[in-house]
Amino acid sequence: MLEQAVEAIRGGLNQYPPGPGLPPLRQAIAAHRKARYGISYDPDTEILVTVGATEAISATILALCETGDEVVLLEPYYDSYAAAIALAGAVRRPVPLRPVPRETDAGGRFSFDVQELRAAVTDRTRLLLINSPHNPTGTSLTIEELQQIADLAIERDLIVVTDEVYEHLTFDGVVHTPIATLPGMRDRTVTVSSAGKTFSVTGWKVGWICAPSAFVRAVTTVKQFLTFTHSGAMQLAVAHGLLREMEWVEALRSSLQLRRDRLVEGLAAVGLDVHVPEATYFIVADVRPLGTDDGEAFARALPHDAGVVGIPVGVFCDNAETGRPFVRFAFCKRDDVLDEAVDRLVTYARRRRPV
Ligand code: PMP
Repeated sequence: MLEQAVEAIRGGLNQYPPGPGLPPLRQAIAAHRKARYGISYDPDTEILVTVGATEAISATILALCETGDEVVLLEPYYDSYAAAIALAGAVRRPVPLRPVPRETDAGGRFSFDVQELRAAVTDRTRLLLINSPHNPTGTSLTIEELQQIADLAIERDLIVVTDEVYEHLTFDGVVHTPIATLPGMRDRTVTVSSAGKTFSVTGWKVGWICAPSAFVRAVTTVKQFLTFTHSGAMQLAVAHGLLREMEWVEALRSSLQLRRDRLVEGLAAVGLDVHVPEATYFIVADVRPLGTDDGEAFARALPHDAGVVGIPVGVFCDNAETGRPFVRFAFCKRDDVLDEAVDRLVTYARRRRPV
């Protein structure tokens, strides 16, 4: 895939490609979705290539929300959602994800309460914005959870925007299901994907949406004046990746699963209460066993006191309590880096513990 990009640049593909994206990439996206999930999109009218998932999300929210419209989203949420909703003059209605009791799920996955989800919808709700697999918790929503969201969307006639950038990075045989494949959902869903996570090329910023043509037209109108278009060479290379290099993605997935296991074990040895992710490359750990319930203060001190960086989950929340005791660590790193981080954290935790 990298060679394809180099060749395309050397071959002269260096001017503006068409705004909606190069046809070979849109065709490859359509073929990939059909082969993997059995869902069909017209590459000419139902797929739009964007500058990463970030632009896809912002342009979609700007296109579909008017001032004062409400967006229901799962909290903690990826930070660009809040900014995009604010830019649109819309209003966030967060629904908390909380750890499931260990008796129900030994790994401590996160989930929402369907009554809370339903209660967040009002007459002003325009979008349900979901993210599965979920950053930061690593939760991959089950079919039952997706069905609860789908039922609500259909009942209240809402559009679902679904950020699925970690769709290929699932572990332990967890199968990702796009909510658009559930009955009645295709025509009310905007699905967001990104080559960045799938092919480990986050710097390339190639993303896309798959959605009914009316939505794609609206989002394209916004995109026209955000960025208009994006590097043709990268697009062509990603088309190649989707058609011919999915085995490489499978190897990435397996290697990430090993690194997940390594960091889960390491953070447990540090004494943290670890929530084992089902997907993504993040682990959320509860810092309370180390004698504090303030994840933000803990994370703020960590670079200086331990030489390690973690992100307090509270920064991804409107309700500080939802994320308060949690810190997110990333395991998309070399083994020796993970081991060094764990060593530093073990030393730090020993120092912290009251004697
Ligand atoms: N959504 C989520 C949930 C993410 O974690 C990220 C990247 N961290 C993005 C979107 C942004 O993706 P991109 O780099 O393709 O814009």
